[in-house]
Amino acid sequence: MHPATIREPARDLRVAESADVVVAGGGVAGIAAAVAAARSGASVLLLERTCTPGGLATAGNVAIYLPICDGRGRQVLGGLAEELLRLSVADLRREVPAAGFFREPAAWRDPAATPGERAKGGRFQTGFDPAAFSLALEALLLREGVRILYDTRVCAIARAIARDGAAISHLVVENKSGRAAVACRAVVDATGDADVCFLAGERTESLATNVPACWYYAATAAGGGAGGSGESPVRLRYLSNPYDKDAGTGGGAAGPFFRGDDAAGLTAQLLASRDRVRADLAKLRAERPEADVQPFALPSAYQQLLLYACMVRCFFICHLDNLRFAVPAQALCILLHCICKIFFLDFPYTEHCDLHMFFLSVPIQVQPFSNTNSSLIP
Ligand SMILES: Cc1cc2nc3c(=O)[nH]c(=O)nc-3n(C[C@H](O)[C@H](O)[C@H](O)COP(=O)(O)OP(=O)(O)OC[C@H]3O[C@@H](n4cnc5c(N)ncnc54)[C@H](O)[C@@H]3O)c2cc1C
Repeated sequence: MHPATIREPARDLRVAESADVVVAGGGVAGIAAAVAAARSGASVLLLERTCTPGGLATAGNVAIYLPICDGRGRQVLGGLAEELLRLSVADLRREVPAAGFFREPAAWRDPAATPGERAKGGRFQTGFDPAAFSLALEALLLREGVRILYDTRVCAIARAIARDGAAISHLVVENKSGRAAVACRAVVDATGDADVCFLAGERTESLATNVPACWYYAATAAGGGAGGSGESPVRLRYLSNPYDKDAGTGGGAAGPFFRGDDAAGLTAQLLASRDRVRADLAKLRAERPEADVQPFALPSAYQQLLLYACMVRCFFICHLDNLRFAVPAQALCILLHCICKIFFLDFPYTEHCDLHMFFLSVPIQVQPFSNTNSSLIP
């Protein structure tokens, strides 16, 4: 009979790296934060637990860059949100609609286009090849002088002054070199799950609202090899159980539901999601018995699949001259939204525009709502 616990001996950790700004998580939010910090002159280290930059957008095949316009021909977000959007398709020579590869409409490439022409031309959005975006993001980071450590998971924090509320002075990481410390002056938590906030003892919340889901590519070869029939051989398949679009009210969602904040639950969600892929492939093969349908590029990042969970994704913990400035992001947005409604003003964020893009362009520091699955509307 094994004991329920074992004791791990205390030991000194090597300080393997140091930087002004350490960004935990190399998804689009972490990359935007790292690039912004590097451009402002800070030394920046990006820690990513996988071996790919881009997070859900690349390793998760979430390959649509949602619009940064208001749907009426006016651009509402710029800065890094726009830069990364354009970068996502910079190398795309030919659009492939079935695969979901499409450039920003011509009207959004023409600086002289009027809002009317842009509104008619389509939304300011793209659909990209995740592998191409991943390569472009990595090149951008290197060009900007951001140091990257892949295969490196943040698993604890340390404070040089050991008291509650004191600044984080080190992140403890694990990678091929073992367990080590990384010294930092500021930390950006862009883990998507608010891991650093959670480890730092910030208030977090987990909700059992994630559903099985998986965006994957299916390659179809019909009669005489890939593309032999003239059809596009690669299709992006969007699989997801209905999820709770109102974030917390339960409306229309279909389980099983997962919290996603422990190893067993996360694995169970992945297994249920892969079941959906197998069922989808069986359906495709039954519909096209003459064709050879193969799965292609399964996501290697897990998808926590209440979409709204992804909105407040970039969490900052900063200590400026002992002043700790933290704003609950969703509360701020709702407040702004209400003020604009009352005074009949146009709020730059509309339901057509993703909130996380809004945060990429606004220099505020936000506090976590959740360590896995943010309850954005209490
Ligand atoms: C199914 C689905 C569909 C979506 N559809 C769209 C869409 O069509 N268009 C759109 O614009 N948005 C969409 N979204 C939202 C969008 O994908 C996310 O908002 C965005 O990708 C989040 O980026 P992020 O960088 O904040 O987080 P993530 O992409 O989750 O990146 C977090 C990164 O941190 C790393 N990490 C996590 N923990 C640690 C740790 N402890 N140590 C080190 N690294 C760590 C992860 O490996 C990952 O690379 C969708 C989301 C989902 C789930």
